[in-house]
Amino acid sequence: MVTSVAGVYLSYPFCAQKCTYCNFASGVFPREQERNYVQAIETELRAHCWEWRPETVYLGGGTPSILALDDLQALLELIPGRPWAEATIEAAPGTITAERARVWAESGINRVSLGAQSFVEKEIRRTGRKHTAQTVAAEIGILREAGVGNINIDLIAGLSGQTEASWRESLDGIERLAPPHVSIYMLEVDEDSRLGKEMLRGGSRYGAAEAPTDDQTAGFYEMAVERLTALGIARYEISNFARPGFESRHNLKYWKLEPYAGFGADAHSYDGARRRQNPESVADYLEGRGSQSTAARPEEERFFVGLRLAAGIRLAPEEWQRFAAPIRRFVDAGLLETEDGALRLTGRGVLLSNEVFQEFLLA
Ligand code: SF4
Repeated sequence: MVTSVAGVYLSYPFCAQKCTYCNFASGVFPREQERNYVQAIETELRAHCWEWRPETVYLGGGTPSILALDDLQALLELIPGRPWAEATIEAAPGTITAERARVWAESGINRVSLGAQSFVEKEIRRTGRKHTAQTVAAEIGILREAGVGNINIDLIAGLSGQTEASWRESLDGIERLAPPHVSIYMLEVDEDSRLGKEMLRGGSRYGAAEAPTDDQTAGFYEMAVERLTALGIARYEISNFARPGFESRHNLKYWKLEPYAGFGADAHSYDGARRRQNPESVADYLEGRGSQSTAARPEEERFFVGLRLAAGIRLAPEEWQRFAAPIRRFVDAGLLETEDGALRLTGRGVLLSNEVFQEFLLA
């Protein structure tokens, strides 16, 4: 059994606005709730028994880049292991100042994940965001000036009004700014976001009527794979691309089933044997409702997390036997391939990955 705590996740679910496509448990909350939240997460960190030295830290959200600097410093003080091999903060464009970048770097943050989502103003406005392509360029300059060169840029394929030409414009933005890491997410259409709801009911608010079709979105994703590969930014996970050596060490822990401890609302933890989830809503977390814990099933989980990786997974002889039927079916359908004892998704399999993962859960 693995019992080390190798990665630490801090959840900061507060945002300046709620983006139309966002389906996370994050958003705009009263100021005083933010105060109480920082205190609650400090209490949770202090109560934690650190058996092992964390290797990575990830501040996600929400928008942790709006967290007051003294609060951020106080929280990081409570995490052992500084300097961490990798410490990431998620940032919304428009929130990065020279002072913030300097204090982040001094506090051990050495990676910034910037939620640009698009470089096309019309698309950005429809998400509810206020930044421009120039904001992103200027803030990357500020980060580099502060010594933080390990930068990720997020883009979303499938935003309202997106066309092949506008998607190319966003990929041009990536080429110009040359970050070492890029994440490409395909828009998730579900009841948990305002845009998703509107699309599902056939409405037109938030540009829902002009959203690309699933096939177009898949085409945009494939365009990105081709363009980023040509730029030397290779796909190492379904949504993640990096120059060699810039793969996210923290996120790799999720896909390799390595342990991590999460703090704050909706944070998840995994110790090799059990998965634990804190209350999803800020209100429930502040009320002190306990976390929920379930037994992990690493022998199944490794299929749907490990197969997300471009390298795929290596199977033991009994696993080849146990999953022989679905493996044969998907190899025949061109969704999985095997090479030198590894099993991995093909390019087409990546686009239909949920279908593949489902079968391994049921097998
Ligand atoms: S997309 Fe990011 S910034 Fe927008 S509401 Fe969701 S968590 Fe906040």
